[in-house]
Amino acid sequence: MNIAILGSTGSIGHSTLEVIRQNKQKFSINLLTARRNHKLLLEQSKEFNPKFVYLEDEQARKIYKENALQKKIETCIIQSQEEFEEVLGSDETNVVVAGMVGIAGLIPVHFAISKGKRVLLANKESYVVAGEYLNTLCTQTGASIFPIDSEHSAIHQCLANTENKTDVSKIILTGSGGPFLNKDINEFTSITPEQAINHPVWNMGKKISVDSSTLMNKGLEVIEARWLFGYENIDILIHPEGIIHSLVEFRDNSVLAQLSNPDMKIPIAYGLSYPERIISGSTPLNLQEVGSLNFLEPDFKKFPCLKLAIDLLSVGGTSFSILNASNEVCVEAFLDGRISYIQIYEIISKVLDKIKIKTVESLEEVLESDKNSRMETSSIINNL
Ligand code: MG
Repeated sequence: MNIAILGSTGSIGHSTLEVIRQNKQKFSINLLTARRNHKLLLEQSKEFNPKFVYLEDEQARKIYKENALQKKIETCIIQSQEEFEEVLGSDETNVVVAGMVGIAGLIPVHFAISKGKRVLLANKESYVVAGEYLNTLCTQTGASIFPIDSEHSAIHQCLANTENKTDVSKIILTGSGGPFLNKDINEFTSITPEQAINHPVWNMGKKISVDSSTLMNKGLEVIEARWLFGYENIDILIHPEGIIHSLVEFRDNSVLAQLSNPDMKIPIAYGLSYPERIISGSTPLNLQEVGSLNFLEPDFKKFPCLKLAIDLLSVGGTSFSILNASNEVCVEAFLDGRISYIQIYEIISKVLDKIKIKTVESLEEVLESDKNSRMETSSIINNL
């Protein structure tokens, strides 16, 4: 099987390559892409021998080229967006791992789906904003989407043998509760970026770490689950140990759960090999060592972003792209020290009140809504 990894130098790219390292006879790399980390991309090229590489940044591409020449690494360096799409869409790419962060991933994900690929989607943002549209496209092209999100991979695994949709009574999405689960609500005003990116269970990029601390990540995951599995009955269960990755309750009140150590390599291996199983390289779960598992109700007062996202399920349309875009801008402003932690929620809800929500009929409408929401959010932040 030939794989393209978009964002190969990021954390998902890194984990994907670790899984591939365990299963070298099964997979080969057709394409690796990165924004500008030419150094790591070169190391990856040396080890995995991709047919093509692409660096978005032109300067980084030049440096990569010189170094590859010196080290005699024979990889074809893609020079343009058109060439990139050609390789991504060609028959030589079977699986596309979309590991880049944020809305930036929407265009290549959309392209891969339009070409009928199996897409492993770590980029939940693109699916949250355009899920309905992308689902229709999947049906037309025969593409399939596999979530590289521990919760959604768990739900996928629990649902694997379900033939009748009506057998499912609800989905129970778990979340660790983030670093501020036990923090006093009165201390939320003084939360710093350093505190927010320090996640107790998962080691991730900055943006998703902040989202995990506000539980906006869980909110986006509710929307993601709705699009992936087609159910609207979704409960949130806080589970600090992060061992049960999600559960499905059936109409006979039987509940299935998927358990493992928190390790992104498991959802990646599952998505790469489904319906088979391959070695993931993660450590086996030792429940005796874990000892006990705890469960709590989510606190919407402390984490209003979660409630905001859940409430949008019944609104639909461009509301998801407004939520997502405004959140991205706010998280960036928070990390830059321009707004406080609690202002993230305040500003997003202001933007949602202000922008008119429409139905989504094309990708352009999603992108337009994304752009307007970003401008509106930035203007609110600039006028603070
Ligand atoms: Mg997740």
